[in-house]
Amino acid sequence: MIKAIRGTRDLLPPDTDLWNRVEAKVRDVFARYNFHEIRTPVFEDTSLFSRSVGEDTDIVTKEMFTWDDKGRAASEKSQSLTLRPENTAGVVRAYIEHGLDKRGTLQKLYYIGPQFRRERPQKGRYRQFYQIGAEIIGPPSAGSESPARDAEVLEMLATLLDELGLRGWTLQLNSVGCAADRARYNQALRDALKPVVATMCADCQRRSETNPLRVLDCKVPEDQPIIEKLPRISQYLDEPCRENFAAVRAMLAAVGVPYTINERMVRGLDYYTRTTFEFTHGDLGAQSAVLGGGRYDGLSESLDGPKAPGIGFAIGEDRLILALQAEGVTADAPLDAYIAPLGAGMNSHALRLARELRRAGVRADLGDESFRLKKSFEAAEKADARYIVIVGENEVAGGQFSVKELATGKQEPIARESLAEYLRRSQ
Ligand code: ATP
Ligand code: MG
Repeated sequence: MIKAIRGTRDLLPPDTDLWNRVEAKVRDVFARYNFHEIRTPVFEDTSLFSRSVGEDTDIVTKEMFTWDDKGRAASEKSQSLTLRPENTAGVVRAYIEHGLDKRGTLQKLYYIGPQFRRERPQKGRYRQFYQIGAEIIGPPSAGSESPARDAEVLEMLATLLDELGLRGWTLQLNSVGCAADRARYNQALRDALKPVVATMCADCQRRSETNPLRVLDCKVPEDQPIIEKLPRISQYLDEPCRENFAAVRAMLAAVGVPYTINERMVRGLDYYTRTTFEFTHGDLGAQSAVLGGGRYDGLSESLDGPKAPGIGFAIGEDRLILALQAEGVTADAPLDAYIAPLGAGMNSHALRLARELRRAGVRADLGDESFRLKKSFEAAEKADARYIVIVGENEVAGGQFSVKELATGKQEPIARESLAEYLRRSQ
């Protein structure tokens, strides 16, 4: 038997009803904040990711699905391609490629789609997973550098999670400063690590040379006491970065979005500057981050684009669904009615009635004339329908249908003209 590849999975009903509910809410909320959808390709030139995400990040060194794509003619050079491990790089590439900066306004873009990382599969960690993300990017003259954009994005996320009915989330907030701050902080980390790094894990030993900031990401338990004693980034922020972070925090306080400062949260991508954040959830175990994001003021330039500061985030949709399910949130897509044809020759009458009802907005499922009444009732119950509508010869002739509410057993005759209205009440 051929099975789905390790780390990939099929999403099936009724779970997909919840996925769709989440995505519909996302589109609704994002539209209220004037975000518009962008769809970028699932694979890109490999260098897009090595140059943006960063050469020494876990994503680029270990997790990408990369292959040499042979040109069609023997003479054509092959090209290194990669399944996107994240979507911000693709969005910024598209922003540059299509000259969106020339529109002169802030671009508020969102995406929903699969991402690919070669990770060890476990609960909340897959090789094909789904992200819902958004970016605000544009020329500084359009206000792209303003801390108000950071606060707007964070407030939108809090609203989205609240409206989805998720309760147990925590916003973890940090500032990783600008490039100069990070250079000074990296040097301080290097100095602090020098006497102790020999006792740390192999990854930390390498990172302490190449990219000391990444040491803070280390999950190895034995390394944690050492990491706890390392210098804190807040002490290395310059005055503008400090003020910027204070402004973001003041605005969050003004709108009542709660957060906790987490100075170790530096995030796994090199392009972040200033504000970085994660929303975590207590029911997710080791994979507690539901979403992550931050500001990336130099990203466009590092991809040879114009100056285009921005801020964005990516929600791990798989984990968001797990968190909602852990809290008992389900999709309510109730079936209004089960239409049960009763007796030979009634299928076409039932189909006609179902057509009328469905066109009038009723969610209806349709049985079969070969079913006896008892079997129709069982089918209606299995389908979780609120009402069952019996379609027999007498009902069709009299223009009146017997409608039974399954939960209560209450039964009423309803005229054909009022039926749709009556059944829709369950929505
Ligand atoms: P983690 O520390 O859990 O590996 P990350 O920092 O690598 O996360 P990001 O690149 O910030 O993750 O992606 C944003 C979100 O996407 C994460 O917060 C998480 O919810 C989700 N995510 C990342 N990798 C995976 C994966 N392999 N499977 C499922 N969801 C993922
Ligand atoms: Mg990761």
